[in-house]
Amino acid sequence: MNASFSTLPLSAAALANLEQLGYAEMTAIQAASLPLALAGKDLIAQAKTGSGKTAAFALALLQRLDAKSFATQALVLCPTRELADQVTQEIRRLARAEDNIKVVTLCGGVALRGQLSSLEHGAQIAVGTPGRVLDHLERGSLELKALQTLVLDEADRMLDMGFHDDIVAVVKHCPAQRQTLLFSATYPEGIAELARRFLRDPQTVKVAEQH
Ligand code: ADP
Ligand code: MG
Repeated sequence: MNASFSTLPLSAAALANLEQLGYAEMTAIQAASLPLALAGKDLIAQAKTGSGKTAAFALALLQRLDAKSFATQALVLCPTRELADQVTQEIRRLARAEDNIKVVTLCGGVALRGQLSSLEHGAQIAVGTPGRVLDHLERGSLELKALQTLVLDEADRMLDMGFHDDIVAVVKHCPAQRQTLLFSATYPEGIAELARRFLRDPQTVKVAEQH
């Protein structure tokens, strides 16, 4: 049996929301990564699909968020629009305990107009694919000066899809002082190179099977 979320430094409201969602205990990757992520460490986390990786980074970035500021404080890069939509949904569910947390999804193949208007109103969290996120950064419609948490989700798939150079360009827009969380099902050399380049003193957590 895995540990309860109540062993983590989360607010009572966040714990009550997890209970409402039916999250009775942490999955293995959550139990391994959340204590480190909540403590502000950079992480390389390896676990397979369906293991609950979204909550493993979402609870960490939500805990640090200043809901009173509309500046973008967290950015999650994903390989596809479908995954970005799933991550956005899961973050919204996990953020229900807080008022006024806005999440914007920034993916290619979607009209810019809606994204530009969401960004104009301000969104503390941006989730998107590297190409479209870079597009917004270059247009000046997205700004990351106040970024605290950068997440590279499914990093191996992003590299497979040819997003290496876009990821590098996006990271150039991020403040050096930040937390970086890298999630990947596999750990090829390309991922090791990204980790060496963009993570600071990272902890590695790896979960083999079960959850
Ligand atoms: P991954 O990113 O590892 O593929 P997800 O974050 O998409 O996995 O989670 C897979 C599913 O498990 C989602 O439906 C999510 O809501 C659910 N889930 C995540 N954590 C828990 C938990 N601690 N207890 C129960 N269900 C969970
Ligand atoms: Mg995932």
